[in-house]
Amino acid sequence: MANESGILILGEVDDSGKLASSTRALCGLAHGLAASLGAEVSAALLGSGVRNAAEELAACGPARVFLAEDEKLSVYNPGIHLPLIKSLCKSEGPRVVLVAHSTMGQDLAPRLSYEIGGGVVTDCVGISVDGSALKCSKPIYGGNVIAGYSATVAPLVITVRSGVGDAPAPGAHPAGIVEALGAEVPSAASAQVTERIKETGEEIGLEEAPAVVSGGRGIGGPEGFSELSKLAGVLGGAVGASRPPVDSGWVPSTSQVGITGKIISPELCVAVAISGSSQHLSGMADSRTVVAINNDPDAYIFKVSDYGVVGDWRSVLPAFTEKLAGLLKGGEQQ
Ligand SMILES: Cc1cc2nc3c(=O)[nH]c(=O)nc-3n(C[C@H](O)[C@H](O)[C@H](O)COP(=O)(O)OP(=O)(O)OC[C@H]3O[C@@H](n4cnc5c(N)ncnc54)[C@H](O)[C@@H]3O)c2cc1C
Repeated sequence: MANESGILILGEVDDSGKLASSTRALCGLAHGLAASLGAEVSAALLGSGVRNAAEELAACGPARVFLAEDEKLSVYNPGIHLPLIKSLCKSEGPRVVLVAHSTMGQDLAPRLSYEIGGGVVTDCVGISVDGSALKCSKPIYGGNVIAGYSATVAPLVITVRSGVGDAPAPGAHPAGIVEALGAEVPSAASAQVTERIKETGEEIGLEEAPAVVSGGRGIGGPEGFSELSKLAGVLGGAVGASRPPVDSGWVPSTSQVGITGKIISPELCVAVAISGSSQHLSGMADSRTVVAINNDPDAYIFKVSDYGVVGDWRSVLPAFTEKLAGLLKGGEQQ
């Protein structure tokens, strides 16, 4: 049945097949909006072997979770995913479609809005209801300005930046039901994914990591990044970088944080030998706690940090890592 004031969440799974934390956060956001719109929340999950993730998604409160499972859906391919989601939007008629501002979301959202004759706002950090309009805010000019957009067009496809929205607490909403999406999975698409190469060393994705240790030009070379990896290992986090280490080939491009890199929102971000350019900050501004290590007391990064150490990272970082490892180990033993 069409649900024309409804909110549809397009869910995703992470590399291990579990429900992505970004999808849980979308559920929290959707429930807040639903209360203002008087709308029902539903969700869709497309993939291969994602039944358990669909149940997890239903437990986050969408009344209905539309599940499509097929080997052809194991890797995102717009030629296969898009027709299914379009068909769902046509039958359900949601007013709002929420998708994470992930690799998939960035590709899918504009295509979907075109296909369903709707509007699109990407990379939102805030959504609210204002009379008959939806108000979306998003950072522009490298994060220096937050722009407001007011949209009355429906359906409106919105991509949401990672770290926005809180996953609903377990049991906060009645669990929904999982049902088949119903549309036929296209047998072929004009473009095929022929190979996926997993970046070695990236055990935890930057966007998902609870802690990120990022290095900048002042690290001086690839060897220094192994010191950053040690701290990331102690924190159970991932290693990031500003652009110069990427441009210099010290770390892979997938490590880059910033306006032309990844947008991160960890609990803890340790910025080592990074000056704090606006292009870098726009990728890490949503970090909950920022610790900076820099030998320049006037470095801008200190202005946006909760804690700062002025000093050469070569002497500060090993001692910091060792102390932290000891404290965490001590905590575990208690
Ligand atoms: C269109 C465009 C897009 C861009 N996109 C991005 C992006 O996505 N991400 C990004 O990061 N940048 C991006 N940049 C580049 C950005 O403008 C900056 O040049 C870059 O962020 C600077 O990186 P950095 O802080 O590592 O280097 P620097 O600005 O050179 O800073 C190095 C810092 O290390 C400190 N330091 C040096 N030695 C030591 C030491 N031994 N111990 C402690 N501290 C030390 C210095 O005091 C300094 O503060 C972009 C630029 C453009 C034009």
